[in-house]
Amino acid sequence: MKAVVLHGPDNYPNNYEVMEIEKPKCGENDLLIRMKAAALCGTDKRIFTGAKTKGVRKDSVIGHEICGVIEEVGKNVKGYSCGEKVAIANVIPCGHCSACLSGRENACLNRKAIGYEFNGGFEEYVLIPEVCIQSGNVVKLSDKVSYAAGALIEPLACCIRGLRNTGTGFNDTVLVIGAGPIGLMHLQLSLISGAKSVIVSELDPEKRNLALKLGAKRVVDPTKEDLHAIVMEETNNEGVDRIVMAIGVNALVDGTLKLARKGGTVCLFAGFPKGKNSELDPSVIHYNELNVTGSTAYKRIDYLQAADMVSSGKIDLDAIVSHKFKLEDFRKALDLHMAGTALKVVIEN
Ligand SMILES: [Zn+2]
Ligand SMILES: [Zn+2]
Repeated sequence: MKAVVLHGPDNYPNNYEVMEIEKPKCGENDLLIRMKAAALCGTDKRIFTGAKTKGVRKDSVIGHEICGVIEEVGKNVKGYSCGEKVAIANVIPCGHCSACLSGRENACLNRKAIGYEFNGGFEEYVLIPEVCIQSGNVVKLSDKVSYAAGALIEPLACCIRGLRNTGTGFNDTVLVIGAGPIGLMHLQLSLISGAKSVIVSELDPEKRNLALKLGAKRVVDPTKEDLHAIVMEETNNEGVDRIVMAIGVNALVDGTLKLARKGGTVCLFAGFPKGKNSELDPSVIHYNELNVTGSTAYKRIDYLQAADMVSSGKIDLDAIVSHKFKLEDFRKALDLHMAGTALKVVIEN
């Protein structure tokens, strides 16, 4: 079968190839999924270029946003049948570490994940091991959900976790920095949660337009307009209640903190480079009593709720998909994804 094999973290773009590998054998306790859609994510960018290596094995297949159809059911596996459309919650918490026991399974100290410790979605058939099935990570989808939207349940689940950490709710004013796929999901989730208005800051005009279509009250080009002045104008000089940083740029953190109202919350949602410091004025956090939080991965309940939202048509994920490629054209897809101008790039099979 065809697969994208990542040989190691160095020498991008010569560190991976689309090649034939053996089709995985479905064990008695496993499921075998025919991949139908696997989306490229900012994390994949960091993995292919060697910026993220945790859990990534040499000569393995990555890809963690996966939707497919059940091809084979191990003889001991109950509750699933061939031909069913499923999405995979790729993060498998251990259930017994201190993070899991304190209700933070998303930050599990021993987590295993499809696309890391187990081969992921950039291949024709994905083996879903017993541990993944038993922890409830294989979620059936209604026929109405497109495969691409099914793959995007995973990042949506991450955004739902971020939304909860941000605490966005009724009548809040929200600022989303960055209108890539993640920022656009946060925009929609904020409105669904009752936000009064969402301001979106984004460099790319097409992404700003899409943000307007998806319900942003105001979009800002921060290179041409004064974001601080606009936020103050929109909020009676008080600042916004909630801010989501959907781009991990260290130099923007200090200025972003100054856009929150007293008692506001700032969520550093995007992945920031490890070991790189930001200069910031701590007095802003002190005097404004800001809550500054992060967000990592998702809990299984976030994933189930994300799947439910998509199945019930509560959120539009297809609007966020800008390009689709066949598995054999993976190199073209990754080149486009790396350029940073596309929204969600999805690999189909
Ligand atoms: Zn992702
Ligand atoms: Zn754990």
